[in-house]
Amino acid sequence: MADFDFDLFVIGAGSGGVRAARVAAGYGARTAIAEEFRVGGTCVIRGCVPKKLMVYASRFRDEFEDAAGFGWTVPATLFDWSRLVAAKEHEISRLSAIYRANLQKAGVALVDSRAEVVDAHRVRLVADGRIVSAKTILVATGGAPVLEPDVPGREHAITSNEIFDLKTMPARLLIVGGGYIAVEFASVFARLGSKVILASRGENVLRGFDEDMRCGVRDALQAAGVETHFSHLPTAIEKADEAYRVKLTSGLEVEVDQILLATGRRPATAGLGLEAAGVELDGVGAVKVDEFSRSNVPSIYAVGDVTHRVALTPIAIREGHAFADTVFGDRPTPVRHEHVPTAVFTTPELGVVGLTEGQAREAYDCVDVYQASFRPMKATLSGSSQKTIMKIVVDAKSDVVLGVHILGEGAGEVVQAIAIAVRLGAKKADFDATVAVHPTAAEELVTMRVRTARYERATPGPEAPDAMPDEA
Ligand code: FAD
Repeated sequence: MADFDFDLFVIGAGSGGVRAARVAAGYGARTAIAEEFRVGGTCVIRGCVPKKLMVYASRFRDEFEDAAGFGWTVPATLFDWSRLVAAKEHEISRLSAIYRANLQKAGVALVDSRAEVVDAHRVRLVADGRIVSAKTILVATGGAPVLEPDVPGREHAITSNEIFDLKTMPARLLIVGGGYIAVEFASVFARLGSKVILASRGENVLRGFDEDMRCGVRDALQAAGVETHFSHLPTAIEKADEAYRVKLTSGLEVEVDQILLATGRRPATAGLGLEAAGVELDGVGAVKVDEFSRSNVPSIYAVGDVTHRVALTPIAIREGHAFADTVFGDRPTPVRHEHVPTAVFTTPELGVVGLTEGQAREAYDCVDVYQASFRPMKATLSGSSQKTIMKIVVDAKSDVVLGVHILGEGAGEVVQAIAIAVRLGAKKADFDATVAVHPTAAEELVTMRVRTARYERATPGPEAPDAMPDEA
């Protein structure tokens, strides 16, 4: 080991890299980490955290409107974008400083520089040209938003990287995309007061999510005033004085003040030197790794979004931790991406774990669905049109709950707890035997007794995957 400058060199101080570096250092590894932008990575600086702060900001609008039904008189309200941006900046700087301090406390050497791979054991620090060696290199460079579709004038558009720090809030905003980032920003900006137009290639929002939930999110966006254009993409963007004129495939032309392209993210491997070092990448540029996050070059590992497995912060953190346990803790720990709960922070929000109804019907011979759609209690006095939708997907043969989908206030919080039950292989009978908390919306999850639908396959398919979670 003494032949190398470090035991571990981590490239990228985001969710995965920071966790890996700290845990490895805790095992006694001489560890360094390089960061080219701001310590904390996408989640802290321009992802989950600032996004959620903006979601909170946006929801005051609903509260102000709802208050009248409960006897309150709310004077005229005024929203100040620059104050929100400043407060957000203050908070993410605080978090970034904590990440730095924690790395320091763990004894990790932090280098503020871009790093590039030279070969299986060497890394170049771009800031000063130094080349350092390490027994193991961990690539944790995350992903970057793509500026697509490739249409004339796309250079006028912004991505999620820029939207958090706009000098002024756009009065008219076109969001291109239908994934979770697109719908979250649509929900936020519509509530903050922008006129939002959402144009997406798909026929609905949130491809890959349960169909009923997709429709619920779409309806909620429309109810919040978002103008939706499905099966539409921009064909050209032109600057028109202070605004932009955008042509869509339908021939429709819209004039807006900002265009957010939220059409996807790509693993950040461009110019990283990985191919030259012999590391195999897949078609989208992700580092190909095994279940221990090891690439085909034995000394080079990769975790997080750069591996294009499941692009979520808790997954990057798990992969980083498991990597450190495996390589430096003498505890080989594979990462399994099963029963991953997730939330979409629109208003109302969507919380999901497990299979969608569609996925279950493809994999299982007989699937039962329990579904409820209702006005939450708060809406009875506020007059809000908001709806809550809950769906439980069950393997009829074993009674095991395969998936739970919740669209409603606090769905992200609720699904975190439900995910424990689903991971443990809870049956629908266990849900039924659980006492309700009253009055809550979540009590519906344990009181839905009447099946809404049963889907039987005419000809049984191949043996369905075991509904019980892998206990490894
Ligand atoms: P990152 O956190 O992206 O960290 C990579 C780091 O590497 C960055 O700091 C980058 O600057 C640095 N870097 C890159 N190349 C180099 C180099 N050559 N040298 C040095 N440094 C380099 N996930 C959730 O779970 N919940 C959410 O609500 C959520 N919301 C999101 C909202 C938005 C708008 C976005 C964009 C993402 C969101 N995500 C969310 C996804 C989440 O942010 C990522 O999955 C997570 O940050 C991945 O962690 P990572 O360690 O792989 O990469």
